[in-house]
Amino acid sequence: MSDDARMYSYSAVLMGSPILLKLFEHNEPLASRVFSLIKQYEDLLTVNRAHSQVMDINQAAGQQPVSVSRPVYELIKCAKAASLVAGGAFNLAIGPLVKCWKIGFKGDRVPPAGDIAQRLTLTDPQNVVLNDEQTSVFLTLPGMEIDLGAIAKGYIADRVRDYLRQQGVTLGLINLGGNVQTLGSPEGGWSIGLKKPFAPGTALLGTIEVMGQSVVTSGVYERYFEQDGRRYHHILDPRTGYPLDNELDSVTIIARQSLDCDIWSTLIYGMGVEKGCAALRARSDIEAIFVTKQREIILSSANHYRFTLLDDDYRLIA
Ligand code: ADP
Ligand code: MG
Ligand code: MG
Repeated sequence: MSDDARMYSYSAVLMGSPILLKLFEHNEPLASRVFSLIKQYEDLLTVNRAHSQVMDINQAAGQQPVSVSRPVYELIKCAKAASLVAGGAFNLAIGPLVKCWKIGFKGDRVPPAGDIAQRLTLTDPQNVVLNDEQTSVFLTLPGMEIDLGAIAKGYIADRVRDYLRQQGVTLGLINLGGNVQTLGSPEGGWSIGLKKPFAPGTALLGTIEVMGQSVVTSGVYERYFEQDGRRYHHILDPRTGYPLDNELDSVTIIARQSLDCDIWSTLIYGMGVEKGCAALRARSDIEAIFVTKQREIILSSANHYRFTLLDDDYRLIA
């Protein structure tokens, strides 16, 4: 019997995304506990509702520091550090620009250039002031907003993996709307599909086989709108305030921690292939698969996974 036939799948829609949990034993109660855990973390981190710990910080921008729970504080601290990496595109203070573009939400359109310029002044990560003793966060300017949309799923995927492990699960997979985290290794590893950019349905460029790693993709084809024949996608360049525009259609990161994957997929997106590969040379634990608009697939390295190309329109460069 193939591994797939022995697998039980549970699904839900949470954080505006389809969520899939795979287990090698039938365990409905465990699956519902996993889904409640995801909801609890979403309640702490979302900026798409009136209340969450992150919204409390945003609502006090320019007024006072807000103390938050230790896990939320640590996540924000990690996001601030990533925001200060030179040449990267990740910025936790990107909120005012995300709200202005509304990409993927009702009313998305290209904002007036003046609005973008004004909001750029509210996105300096140095103006996110942290206090370790109080576990407090202070946004120094009114109108500043933290947005953890680029890393919340990765962080939560790791928490789900930890919970499953603690519950005695040795083989499992959680897919949070494209952020995949795995536990253990079935025979042959876990096979994760890499989507073909802009292709309809489930067309795949290839498969990525991992054992206990996470696989996360940031792509220009995931959420976007079109205006006057141009496409505007949801990953913004903190330097310009406009969607990132370079040679890439997507970046996939493979690493143990889904949080690392999520941070690095955005960081590296902004660096492009050459600088991205150079940055990864110092991190043998983090590997990238770049898909370019020129239909090339470039692997920074492939020590902890195996990539199989399925589409002959694309050229593999290892
Ligand atoms: P998804 O998994 O939803 O496709 P990503 O992990 O690629 O998302 O992150 C995109 C989201 O991150 C955006 O929807 C927005 O909320 C936020 N975001 C956009 N640009 C940036 C940026 N430069 N730095 C940090 N977060 C960003
Ligand atoms: Mg993501
Ligand atoms: Mg991300």
